Amino acid sequence: MKYNEGANLDPSQMGGGGGRGNGGKIAIGGGAGLVVLIVALFLGIDPGQLLGSSDPGTGSTEAASPYAQCSRGSDISANRDCRFVAYTNSIQSYWKDALGGYKTIQVHTFTGSVATACGNATSAVGPFYCGADQTVYLDTGFFDELTGTLGAEGGDAAEAYVLAHEFGHHIQQQTGTMRQVQSQGSQTGPKSPGVRLELQADCYAGVWFAHATQDPSSPIAEVSEDDLRKAVDAAGAVGDDRIQQKMQGQVNPESWTHGSAANRKKWLLTGYQTGDPNQCDTFAKDAV
Ligand SMILES: [Zn+2]
Repeated sequence: MKYNEGANLDPSQMGGGGGRGNGGKIAIGGGAGLVVLIVALFLGIDPGQLLGSSDPGTGSTEAASPYAQCSRGSDISANRDCRFVAYTNSIQSYWKDALGGYKTIQVHTFTGSVATACGNATSAVGPFYCGADQTVYLDTGFFDELTGTLGAEGGDAAEAYVLAHEFGHHIQQQTGTMRQVQSQGSQTGPKSPGVRLELQADCYAGVWFAHATQDPSSPIAEVSEDDLRKAVDAAGAVGDDRIQQKMQGQVNPESWTHGSAANRKKWLLTGYQTGDPNQCDTFAKDAV
C-alpha cells in the first residue's frame, strides 16, 4: 500500500496506555446479565478457554504507546508503528460515512497479555474484538505468526485486512447481528451462524478496501492489485481448514469457527468487488 504523505493521522484512536475507555459496557444478553463476548481472528477455541480470571491487570504488559508521534502520513516511513494508525483511521473514516451512528472506537495494542472487559487474554488469542468494551485488541506480534507459522505472504495490506476484519465485528455489534448470532446454539461447523458471522466480517473488510483510497484525506493513497492479492492470501492462511491441516495434520469441518480458506477469500473479494456492505449477506441460505 502507498500512503498519503500529507494526510493527517489521528493517534487518539489508538490505545495501549492509560485507562481503557470510559465505562460504557454494553449488555448484549437479555436478562442474563452481561454476556462477555470476544471474537478472535482465527483460533478455533471456545472463548471461555481463552480468557483467564478476570483479575484486572495481572500479567498485562501493555506496550507503551508509540503512536503519539504519528501525526502525518509521512511519519509512516520513519516510524513503521504509525501504519497501524493509518489503517485504523481509514477503516473508521469509511464506516463513519457508511453506517449512520457509527461509534468510533480504539485499537488497543499489546504484547504478551492484556486485561479487557472480556477477561484477560494472551497473544495466543490473536487479534480480537471485545464487545463488552467495544475495543479491538491487537497483539502486533501476531503478524510474525501470520507470515511464519501460518505461511501468509504478509505485507501492509494483509495487516490492514486483519484489522478491518476486527472492525467488521464492531459493525456487527452495532447492527445487532452479533447479538442475534450469539443467541443461536452451536457456533461451529462450516454453515454455522458463528462461521457466517466471521465470513461477514471478512466481507466488511473487503468493502473497506474498496473505499480505502476514495476520501482525499485518507492516509491510504493506493491499494494495488498486488496488495489486494496479499490481503486475500492472508484471508486464506487463516482459513480453518488451512490452520487445522498445519497444526493438526487433519481437517475437521465440524469444529470450524471461521470458515474455510476458500470461503474467507471469497467473502473478502465479494466485499471488495461490490464495495457494498449490503452484499455481505453471509447468512443467506446458500451463502456458504
Ligand atoms: Zn473474527
